[in-house]
Amino acid sequence: MSLLDRSVRSLLLSEIVSGMLITLRYMFKRKVTINYPFEKGPLSPRFRGEHALRRYPNGEERCIACKLCEAICPAQAITIEAQEREDGSRRTTRYDIDMTKCIYCGMCEEACSVGAIVEGPNFEFATETHEELLYNKDKLLENGEIWEQEIAMRLEADKDFR
Ligand code: SF4
Ligand code: SF4
Repeated sequence: MSLLDRSVRSLLLSEIVSGMLITLRYMFKRKVTINYPFEKGPLSPRFRGEHALRRYPNGEERCIACKLCEAICPAQAITIEAQEREDGSRRTTRYDIDMTKCIYCGMCEEACSVGAIVEGPNFEFATETHEELLYNKDKLLENGEIWEQEIAMRLEADKDFR
């Protein structure tokens, strides 16, 4: 572009005008963005988010401390300690997940034969410190209580899919 052309374009503010025209055109098109966090997009049924430990409807913990999830976890993010109860059942005394190691592969959920450890739909669990992402059993059971309805629906849908 010659110097004269550039000078004329600058004088007429042609770039600004064409930019404004593009803005005007897009103002009337269907929006592809959403006003997050007030609006949220749909979640895929295959989405795997924050972990939760589930209970049976009678309140009993599902986890039987078999440690399969710990063994299969490729990131070695799960740490379990277990003890036998007085009634002879085996339950965890410690169930930790280091969420900063987790790669959200879903293998812990796949390995669990009693549907205890699952990945729920929550993706809004960013924190300011590393320590807050070191989940213990209480935190995981609490997540299970918060998200049970959504998790149960997803597991039901998964069954139909398989
Ligand atoms: S989702 Fe994968 S990486 Fe994360 S805890 Fe489960 S098995 Fe480990
Ligand atoms: S969560 Fe499931 S796989 Fe992991 S120890 Fe408990 S019962 Fe076993």
